[in-house]
Amino acid sequence: LGNLSRETFNLISAKVKFLIIAIDGPSGVGKSTLSSLLADKLGGLYVDTGAMFRCLAWRWQQLDCPEDDDALRNLGLQTRIKMASNQIWCNSTEVSELIRSEQVSALSSHISKFSVIRDIMKQKQRELVEDVRNSGSFSGAVLEGRDIGTVILPNADIKFFVDADPEIRAQRRFDQLRQKGEEVEFDIILQALRERDAKDRNRSIAPLVPAEDAILVDTSNMKEQQVLNTMLQHIDKIK
Ligand code: C5P
Repeated sequence: LGNLSRETFNLISAKVKFLIIAIDGPSGVGKSTLSSLLADKLGGLYVDTGAMFRCLAWRWQQLDCPEDDDALRNLGLQTRIKMASNQIWCNSTEVSELIRSEQVSALSSHISKFSVIRDIMKQKQRELVEDVRNSGSFSGAVLEGRDIGTVILPNADIKFFVDADPEIRAQRRFDQLRQKGEEVEFDIILQALRERDAKDRNRSIAPLVPAEDAILVDTSNMKEQQVLNTMLQHIDKIK
């Protein structure tokens, strides 16, 4: 401690604490918006791990890649994903919009069940956190996905499991797609969302389940700002 009093030391340590926040939940629950707002507010790095699976799925489709372990491993290792300033790059293509189609959604859910793919993603996601911790340029990291609190970062400082009724999530997705000018039907969106939920929740590796120590937040009847405030209140308690 040198000449520092214990109190000053604790204050400084508290200020430089690198905060890791894990946010899991099904699709269409608003995780991406919430996570990016939280990261902005806390000066942390925001990592959309779903986008990483989507990049793999998009490339898999482009390359017409077979489903065997070697091919999937190569796909995982040779796919370079970069996220910066609201843009997502996959190798040398800007894919921010391309990876948001319903087709890529379904494919990403399909390839995410393979253990070779999940192992590579786990390594990449943990490396991202370590790199940003070592860079000293962020005060923490907010990772969102399906298995962040359970598998990727079981020692995260705080974990949230965000959920909402399927109909409400489907309506949000429907509105988003309509705003973009896409001709979609609500029933088809709802059915696709239910199928993706079932796949994510029932797969044998890293299924979508709340971590035992996760804080459950049901956003069905909450406005975005209310959810954000609730999360910030929990975060304040551990800072
Ligand atoms: O979050 P998003 O809907 O973009 O994720 C796309 C798909 O990627 C999910 O349906 C899920 O199957 C998969 N995924 C996953 N683990 C994560 C993030 C996403 O399996 N951590």
